[in-house]
Amino acid sequence: MLETDNPLVREYFGKIVGEDGLKIMENIPEGEITDEAIAKLSDTKLTSVRKVLYVLYKSRIAEYRTERDDNTGWITYWWSFNHNNIKKMMEEEADIALRGLREELKYERNGEFYRCHCQRILFEEAAEEDFWCEECESNFEYFDNSNLVKELGKQIKELEKWKKKLRRK
Ligand SMILES: [Zn+2]
Repeated sequence: MLETDNPLVREYFGKIVGEDGLKIMENIPEGEITDEAIAKLSDTKLTSVRKVLYVLYKSRIAEYRTERDDNTGWITYWWSFNHNNIKKMMEEEADIALRGLREELKYERNGEFYRCHCQRILFEEAAEEDFWCEECESNFEYFDNSNLVKELGKQIKELEKWKKKLRRK
C-alpha cells in the first residue's frame, strides 16, 4: 500500500517504524485486517507487528476497532489505515525536504566556492586566508559547483512531481 520504493517514503517511515515496519507496511492491504493476518502476510513475528502497529496508532496512521466473540470471549483487533493522514504526513515531509533543498540551491547558486584537500569554502573566506589552507597545507582552488546545482535542481523537480502525484491519489 505504501510506495516504499520512493526514497522519501522509505526515509520517513523508516525513521518512525524501522526496516521491519516498512516490510510490514508494504504488505498491508486496503480495508480491515487483524494483526495475525499482517504477521502472516509480511512473514514477521506477531510481537514486531504489534510494536509497529502501536507506533502507527500513536502517529494516527493506524486505527483499530475491537470485536468480541460471545462464545469464547476472545477479542479480535481489526486494524485499518488512515490513508488521508499518511498522505498529509507525506506532503508535510515533502514540503520540509523541498524547503531545505531550495535553500541549499540558493546557497550554491549565489556563492563562488573554493576547495582544498579538507574543506570547501566561499570565495570571500578563501581570499581572507590568501587561498592557503593552514589545516591541510594546500591551496584553495576554484571549485565548479555547476554539477551540484544541476543535481539539486533535479531533486527538487522530482520531489515536486511526486508531491503532485500524491495529491491526485
Ligand atoms: Zn584544507
